[in-house]
Order: sequence, then C-alpha cells, then structure tokens
Amino acid sequence: MTLQKHADHRADATEIASEEALRLDVSMSTRLLNSMKILEYSGHVSARLPGGETFLVQPQNKSRAEVSPDDLLVCDLDGKVVAGMPGVKPPSEVFLHCEIYRARSDVNAIAHFHHDVTNVFTLVEDVPLLAFKNHAIRWKSGIPVHPDPAHVDDPERGRGIVRTLGPHHAMQIRAHGQIVTAETVRGVFIDSVHLVENAEAAYRACSLGKPKPLTDEEIESFSHSFRRGHHIRKLWSYYTLGAIREGVFPEAWAA
Ligand SMILES: [Zn+2]
Repeated sequence: MTLQKHADHRADATEIASEEALRLDVSMSTRLLNSMKILEYSGHVSARLPGGETFLVQPQNKSRAEVSPDDLLVCDLDGKVVAGMPGVKPPSEVFLHCEIYRARSDVNAIAHFHHDVTNVFTLVEDVPLLAFKNHAIRWKSGIPVHPDPAHVDDPERGRGIVRTLGPHHAMQIRAHGQIVTAETVRGVFIDSVHLVENAEAAYRACSLGKPKPLTDEEIESFSHSFRRGHHIRKLWSYYTLGAIREGVFPEAWAA
C-alpha cells in the first residue's frame, strides 16, 4: 500500500473509537506534537475510552519521542491506573484530564503542553490571546486564563481547571501552559497545531504594531464555509505522511 493510500484509509477511520485505534492515534499525536516542538518533554495527550469512565494517557517518564501504543496507561476518573505496566505512573497532572472528562461529556481528547510563545500572553497585562488566524475561529468563545500557575497534581486543582475552562475548547494556565480539548484525538492534534500557530502570529503582529484580531464578522464569515471534519482529515493526512517520511513513527501505524 502506498503512503497516500495509508493516509486515506486512516483518515476514513476518524470515527472509529476502538481502544486499538485510540492507542495508535494518541501515540502518533504525541510523537507529532513532540517533533513540532509543541509537546516538548513534559506535555501529554489523552483519549477517553469507550464507556466514558477511563482514558488512555502516556507514562510520566516515557520520552514523548518514543511513546508507543503498548506504553499507554489506562486511568480512571480518579487518576488511578487500571491497566498498564506494573509500577509505571501517569503524568503528575493526570487530574486535569480526570476532571475535564468528568465534567465535559463532549470532550473525548485532551492535550496539555507548555509552549512558551503561547504562554507569553499570560505574562503581560492587557494583551489577551485572541483569534488572529482564520482557523482560530475554534476559539471564538475565548481562551480563558487560569490564575494559578501550579501543577494540576490533585483533584481540587483539576476542578479549578474545569471552572476556568467552562464551555470553551482551550485555555491557558498562567506562567505554565495550555490545555486543548476536542471531540477526537485527531481533532485535538490539529487544534493544538492551530493554537500555537495563532499565538505565534499574534506575537509577531504585536511586535510590529497595534494588534488587529479577527472581527466578529470575519469569524462568522469563515465559520460559515468551514468544514471541520474535512479539515481534520486533510491535515491529519498531511502531517502523518510527512512524519512517516521523517521517521517520526513507523509506517505500519498508519496502515
Ligand atoms: Zn503542565
């Protein structure tokens, strides 16, 4: 099978939510976001498993460049590991995943990372991260900032994250990092890429002059013609094919 056929086949499987498929998507997304300098050494991606009360997440100390489907832990919504290698711990911030899945039935995938340029907008007064690029319409309702920079390493801090996130699809933790939520793993991967692209564009715009974010009319106009499912399939194919060529993960994962 050619690389393109591999990608098309996987793109058509977007709606499949078997544990096997989710393990592959989480592993690919983790390695992709790491290779793009978004996830870095301590970010994580998770996926809600069928049944809704457990999710996949990577081990705390596994390199994000080497995460594989069999490495992923299954955790419950209290943060307990219910399946995985003995003695292997989830990320210390597993509770942000637990509490968001508990509170938001529309969320099936979460990415958390610590991207510096994006986080700069939490370090200054009166310069919020707004929608500048067209695909930032995903965050037209806003990107709230959580005031407590602490690690989300217990359930109460996880519930605080939920209160700040509200109904939105992304948020920042002041002086710390970002949380992105979506309906699928592939969606959360594409959204994470766009969140960072938008922040970098906003940062450059602010360095040149008075920032000029998208107007409500421009957001509405782009939203009218935007097909999210098609967009996710197109970009997933683009990024996974490139990653296979660069050896980010094995070609067989996209078969
Ligand atoms: Zn963090």
